[in-house]
Amino acid sequence: MEFKVNELEQEPIEFDLELAPGEVDCGQEAEQTGRLATAGRAEVLHEHRGPRDIVADIRLKGRFAGNFQVPCARCVEPVEIPLAADFDLIFRPAGADSDAPERSITAPETEIGYYQKDSLLLEDVLREQVLLSLPVRTLCKPDCKGLCPRCGANRNLQTCSCEEGPSDPRWGTLSELRNRIKS
Ligand SMILES: [Zn+2]
Ligand SMILES: [Zn+2]
Repeated sequence: MEFKVNELEQEPIEFDLELAPGEVDCGQEAEQTGRLATAGRAEVLHEHRGPRDIVADIRLKGRFAGNFQVPCARCVEPVEIPLAADFDLIFRPAGADSDAPERSITAPETEIGYYQKDSLLLEDVLREQVLLSLPVRTLCKPDCKGLCPRCGANRNLQTCSCEEGPSDPRWGTLSELRNRIKS
C-alpha cells in the first residue's frame, strides 16, 4: 500500500488490512509465514520552518501483528514466533534536512524517517518495524544443544563422534552455517 503525499494532503487515510505471507520481505532475518494484520492512520503534518519553507511530513501511526519464522540462534533451525508492535512515526521528504541536520520536531516520542519521491510504502515501513521488534536472540528450545563446532551436526538430532577441541573456523558465523546446511 502506497501513501501519496498529495492524496494525504486532501484527507488522512485510515487503513486496516492483511498482507499475504511473504509480502513483508525481511530478508534472511525473518520470514513472514502467516497473514500480517495491520491497521492505522496516515496523515500529513506541515512543519512551518519559515514563511516560504513548509515541509510536508507524513505521520504514520498504527500497529501490526503476524507470525514469523526466525533461525534459532544456536542450531539455525526455523522457529515460529508471533510478533506485534505499535508504531508512531514521522517521515520527512528525502533531502528536507540536508541543510539543517540538527532540526528537531515537537513530538519527542516519534521517530524520524524519510520518504522518497512523494510517497511512502507501507510494506517498507512494516519491514523496518518487524526487524525492530525481533527478539535479540531466539532459541528453538531453552536447552537447544546447537551445532557441533567441528562437523556442523545438529546436536539436538544426532550425537556426532567429534572430539571436544578447538573449533573449526569454518563454523564461525551463522550465515556460513546456514549455507552449508542448505547445500
Ligand atoms: Zn536450536
Ligand atoms: Zn561433530
